Amino acid sequence: MDGKQMLMIPGPTPVPERVLLAMAQHPIGHRTSEYSKIQAEVTENLNWLHQTQHNVQMLVSSGTGAMEAGIINVLSAGDRVVCCSNGKFGDRWVKVCQAYGLNVEIVTAEWGKPLDTEQIREKLESDSEKTIKAVILTHSETSTGALNDLETINKHVKAHGEALIIVDAVTSLGAYNIPIDDWGLDIVASGSQKGYMIPPGLGFVAVGPKAWEAYKTATLPRFYLDLGKYRKATADNSSPFTPPVNLVFGLCEALRMMKAEGLESIFARHQRLTTATRAAVKALGLQPFAPDEAASTAVTAVLGGDADAEKIRSLLKKRFDIALAGGQDHLKGQIFRIGHLGFVGDRDILAAIGALEAVLVELGSAGAATGAGITAAAKVFAGQA
Ligand SMILES: *Cc1c(COP(=O)(O)O)cnc(C)c1O
Repeated sequence: MDGKQMLMIPGPTPVPERVLLAMAQHPIGHRTSEYSKIQAEVTENLNWLHQTQHNVQMLVSSGTGAMEAGIINVLSAGDRVVCCSNGKFGDRWVKVCQAYGLNVEIVTAEWGKPLDTEQIREKLESDSEKTIKAVILTHSETSTGALNDLETINKHVKAHGEALIIVDAVTSLGAYNIPIDDWGLDIVASGSQKGYMIPPGLGFVAVGPKAWEAYKTATLPRFYLDLGKYRKATADNSSPFTPPVNLVFGLCEALRMMKAEGLESIFARHQRLTTATRAAVKALGLQPFAPDEAASTAVTAVLGGDADAEKIRSLLKKRFDIALAGGQDHLKGQIFRIGHLGFVGDRDILAAIGALEAVLVELGSAGAATGAGITAAAKVFAGQA
């Protein structure tokens, strides 16, 4: 059967029909009062979603562009930065920082494990000269499904007093509570194809007051990604360059849907999907790759057990038209990843788990029995686990 693919990858994520229809219109001019009205609503609702009073800036880029903008607008060549990496995306920020000639010190943790917050605290405390300009980290490490303890790491950065905190929240924004203003986060970057329920193409950067101060003296080259241009335009309900207007129509609708659901409900839903998914895979004899206490609410990476993770994935695709993500780099074949981010509900998890257990049983995976995963997930949804 064609046209019924179920997208269960950590981005792009499924898009609601309401959003698809909102995008199915003729574009309008972006220098018009019509567009300004939409931009004004989008800015207000983006601020709501980010729990900030400082306008969130919208870029025409994927998440990486938003992160790169966050880095280059507040730093200068040679600046000492601490990059924390426990996966593929953490490694990416090391590369971006090195590409711009920053003096990068890397704090690592094993893939699948969360960052050691004590190690970061020690690093910051030993910096008596206060030369560390920024701590850069990935909140939800999509490559492994590990969630880093942003709140604690941020406290250590605040105790340092000088360093900025620059956060990749690409798969945690809209899936996990990040009170940006309350915590005083300086840069928080995200991308449209993850928690926003719209297609790829937009990047978002929340910039705090301390980061705007740093912006004034930062000397890395910037033009298209110069956040000052966006700040000025956003304040005028406008955009410095041509925005993808149809995508903005979609964003406007998606934000309305999110507002109607409410932040607390959105976070609770992502937590419930995560709990159910993890309970189900364990009941099927498999192990989540990241520990329970550091579980991303956007994606669950699962060790394939005695079955090749790529075989599980391809059979799920072939038999059920359900797309899961594979492992990246050295984890290819070892893990598969179930995305449960954005427009995903309890019913989607039941369908994906039911299909997964059929595939595991067909592949002869030890510990898998039909019904075991569904039972575990249904118990969570019934409030019995
Ligand atoms: C998806 C993702 C990104 C951004 O990737 P793009 O392909 O540039 O959108 C960055 N960080 C994390 C943690 C992600 O999951």
